[in-house]
Amino acid sequence: MSKHLLSGLGVATLLAAPAAAADQPLLARWTGPYGGVPPFDRVEVAQFQPELEAGMAEQLAEIEQIAADPAEPSFQNTIAALEGTGRTLDRVANVYGVWSSTMNSQEFQAVEREMAPKLAAFSDRITQNERLFARIAKVYETRETSGLTAEQQRLVWLDYTNFVRAGAKLDADAKKRLSEINQKLAALFTQFNQNVLSDEESYVLVLETDADLAGLPDSLRSAAAAAATSRGHEGKWAVLNTRSSMEPFLTYSDRRDLREKVWRTYYSRGDNGDEKDTNALITEILKLRAERAKLLGFATHAHWRLENTMAKTPERAMELLEAVWKPAVARVHEEVADMQAIADAEAATSGTAKITIEPWDYRYYAEKVRKAKYDLDENEVKPYLQLEKLREAMFWVAGELFGFQFTPVTNVPVYQPDVRVWEVKNPQGGHVGVWYFDPYARQGKRSGAWMNAYRSQERFEREITTIVSNNSNFVKSKEGDPILVSWTDAETMFHEFGHALHGLSSNVTYPSLAGTAVARDYVEFPSQLLEHWLPTPEVLNRFALHFQTGKPIPQELVAKIERASTFNQGFQTVEYLASALVDMKLHLAGDVTIDPDTFERETLAALGMPKEIVMRHRTPHFSHIFSSDSYSAGYYSYLWSDTLTADAAEAFVEAGGYYDRTVAKRLVDHVFSVGNTVDPADAYRAFRGKDPGIGALMRKRGFPEPAVAGGAK
Ligand SMILES: [Zn+2]
Repeated sequence: MSKHLLSGLGVATLLAAPAAAADQPLLARWTGPYGGVPPFDRVEVAQFQPELEAGMAEQLAEIEQIAADPAEPSFQNTIAALEGTGRTLDRVANVYGVWSSTMNSQEFQAVEREMAPKLAAFSDRITQNERLFARIAKVYETRETSGLTAEQQRLVWLDYTNFVRAGAKLDADAKKRLSEINQKLAALFTQFNQNVLSDEESYVLVLETDADLAGLPDSLRSAAAAAATSRGHEGKWAVLNTRSSMEPFLTYSDRRDLREKVWRTYYSRGDNGDEKDTNALITEILKLRAERAKLLGFATHAHWRLENTMAKTPERAMELLEAVWKPAVARVHEEVADMQAIADAEAATSGTAKITIEPWDYRYYAEKVRKAKYDLDENEVKPYLQLEKLREAMFWVAGELFGFQFTPVTNVPVYQPDVRVWEVKNPQGGHVGVWYFDPYARQGKRSGAWMNAYRSQERFEREITTIVSNNSNFVKSKEGDPILVSWTDAETMFHEFGHALHGLSSNVTYPSLAGTAVARDYVEFPSQLLEHWLPTPEVLNRFALHFQTGKPIPQELVAKIERASTFNQGFQTVEYLASALVDMKLHLAGDVTIDPDTFERETLAALGMPKEIVMRHRTPHFSHIFSSDSYSAGYYSYLWSDTLTADAAEAFVEAGGYYDRTVAKRLVDHVFSVGNTVDPADAYRAFRGKDPGIGALMRKRGFPEPAVAGGAK
């Protein structure tokens, strides 16, 4: 869906915005510094529905005015005019989105269930407006001869394509059915989301005694104690049913029985046969998606979804996934052999029964192999990874590569006292944007980490600057104690900050083309690339400081991290690829009734999935693909983007290092600043001087390179 339909931003110029009543603050233009900021201090959940409805009504009136314009359709009176619509709705919808992901209460969930189908129907009313589409089509026909700039031509193409993809060319009956499907899907997505969130929040493993904590390092013990307190189990310890609680527990707990319990609980989310079970929802979602694809003239949902991506067809995406699958599985077998040897030796030494490596043993024994092979103990690294120091490290990298300066500010409202805000400036001291940071886990906040754009950059009516946030789920420490994070979590912080920098670097005219509004299999490229700056000595020596001594991480430890960089890539690649392959196959299956459990089991068996690994996201809680359409038939995007990422990282290495100013400038000029104003393949070529092959990706993961290079071109 094009951005202005639901989430563009700015000020309505075509019609005066309705005067906002005192109790409807979200309808008003944002006030305060930086061209206005979200009024997070004035939100009332009960107001979302009337405010969203007022926003929708206003945009429909604006659309009607464009559609009914007696003047000949032109870029200005149609395409540019569309960019200016929906400003009020965008403001409300952005705050609504923040509540959905980070302040999701029971009261809010009721509003979501009510509003999801209404918002879907609203979108369809715009894309199905025939007079509006006729005008867009007219502008599209003459886009190359009517004196438009390259960016304007790209916007015309985008609008036209999005309208056609949303069914603008269908007959009246098909349009009606399409809208019914979209409304049903919106309701199912909401239900799926709420069920998974419920399974994450309602299952907590409370550890009662010291024996239950065997193997856990101090930092984990205190995090588990804090988690228990937050759930009303003062004096005990708790493992929450989230990735950031599950992963470290499975890595360190000596208690095999508890590891299995935590593993089973986590990977059964949505799959417990109770009222929160998502299997039936998934069957229905897949059926409706298949029907919609047919209506729109595509063989399957996957073909429809991939049409406007870099990969363009499911076949090309599958080709890349399959090229990496075999070497990754081969690596898993090697990893398991290494782990089994350690487990056998342990059994021999202690005189206990031999075990066979099971999925709940993988992280635990992998850690032991890491120690044995590379003499690297994650626990030795962790004391050097302080959350706040890593944040400073990210700011420093942004300064080196982008010239950005971050200054903390307290002059803007926040939705939660933990949220902190920084103003971003350019080297000349000019205002670039605002960055919000919401780092801690709490109830009502979805798990994982993400970037959220509150406002996109644009300048076609007036200069509007970027407002973005980074969100994660670190367990809060006791007052004053620094929070120590794992290496993986540190990488994730850099990743999400990469998305934020992509938004902040945006330098375009029209909001629909700004920042991260790019093809789904391209959007992870800038974010993944930023992860490469974490292990640089420049960052580690300055910011990886021991939380007690303040001393920088020893060179010897940095060298070990470097040597172990491809360690466990079999596990990481296979757990990811299994999810990507199942996603694609579910959406290539077409119009058949799918039982998700059976489909998953049979697909993995046919692929030769190693029995010691489970999908990173099992089907019943695969939120990427079932909480909205956005990553459906799109989980492959991370690997596709990584072919670009790995190749782009080599551009820096070839130039002498990650802080090479010339390559950094090319990266900003051709990738970070251009948003969707340029075709991504062209943008990449302009940066790199060539297309990426699969070689750099395989080198990055330590896999043998195939004789014939394929992959992202
Ligand atoms: Zn990402």
